[in-house]
Amino acid sequence: MYSVTSYVLKIASRCNLNCSYCYMYNMGDQTYLKQPKFMALETVQAFADKLKSYCNSAGIEFVQIIFHGGEPLLAKPSYFEECVAIFRNTIPEVEYVFTIQTNGVTLDKNWYELLLKLKISIGISIDGPKKYHDEYRVFHNGKGSYNQVAKAIQLGKQYNLRGLLLVVNINIPVADLYAEMKALDVNSLNLLLPDGHYDQAPFGLDMNRWGDKDYTPYADWFIKLYKIWKEDKDRPSIYFFETLVKMIMGQEGIGNQLMGRKTNGVVVVESDGSVEVVDSLRACFEGITRNDINVHKNDLEDLFEDDTFQLYYRAHDEVAEQCLNCPVYDICGGGFLGHRYSEEKGFDNPTMYCKDMVRLIAFIQNDILQSLPEASVAELGIEPLVYDEIIQSFDEENEIKIDPKIQAKLQSYQKALHV
Ligand code: SF4
Repeated sequence: MYSVTSYVLKIASRCNLNCSYCYMYNMGDQTYLKQPKFMALETVQAFADKLKSYCNSAGIEFVQIIFHGGEPLLAKPSYFEECVAIFRNTIPEVEYVFTIQTNGVTLDKNWYELLLKLKISIGISIDGPKKYHDEYRVFHNGKGSYNQVAKAIQLGKQYNLRGLLLVVNINIPVADLYAEMKALDVNSLNLLLPDGHYDQAPFGLDMNRWGDKDYTPYADWFIKLYKIWKEDKDRPSIYFFETLVKMIMGQEGIGNQLMGRKTNGVVVVESDGSVEVVDSLRACFEGITRNDINVHKNDLEDLFEDDTFQLYYRAHDEVAEQCLNCPVYDICGGGFLGHRYSEEKGFDNPTMYCKDMVRLIAFIQNDILQSLPEASVAELGIEPLVYDEIIQSFDEENEIKIDPKIQAKLQSYQKALHV
């Protein structure tokens, strides 16, 4: 039985920004154009009905609903009241976490008060200091959105809501970024690796240097940030680091679609009621997430029969052979499925951030080991890691062989089979 507890509701399919790296609008997938601008409340109700049936049959007691878009705050305030009422009335027996992910440009006092009243927690996307934010997070007229977003974050102090989501831009000097987070008095920050894969490099990455053994620009950037963050006595929560540290320390049951060995349990409901696997996979190729499943005619469980959903759900178990033999596999998990894609081999690759993950995990693990008393190190049972040795091991004969059926499944997404 699949356990899926996080649902991303694309309540608005359009956005008031036009970010240059956005997978929805600027990375090869145009399916949003066929979607209604807003998810009708009848569709929300149809989804809630199907969710109830699934929760009851699968024994799900906790559900996270993430209001997303496009830009979800393009919907009317009353829309959110009605949505929350639909869920609470239809499935009163489950515990909810409601979240909204917004670009923040219209987030004012009235929105904060409403979202607080409805117990919807707020995540605001920002790209860093004004100079960098305004380069990418722009309105449709090309103007930067920093001033509006910074104002919304400042306002959030009154409501104790300063949770930010930041897509990593390695061109931003780490000290500048950290100073910005402190100036905005951020209390929690999550970091995302940019979308991209072997045939579409994430921004900031020099593919001419990508094959160099020591070219790990993301790890270098993260390590600088980690050092500053660790030294800060009044540091904000940084989920990316905290998750890595917990996993290295042996805590079980954590991880996400970027790292770790947990199954991936995020489902996307498009504004027309289509139910799909997580939509950032669209950066791989047009239509990869498409199927014929819709809450108006299908059960949620029908998605679990979908090949791409199954691949995504088990993405940290069904990995390339190099990952199966990698000493940091339990922490890295082979990375996010979308970052593994190549036209030549489908998903039969390590994440394109592989070397960065090796270097980062090795650094944090070694740092933890150095800061603990010997007795605790022995209890933890973790060893120092040497980056060069791990990278060298990737050229050696693999002891663990990949199951040919899994390899065939990963390779079935080669471009030649999908044109
Ligand atoms: S570090 Fe590389 S080889 Fe190791 S699990 Fe991650 S992607 Fe796979």
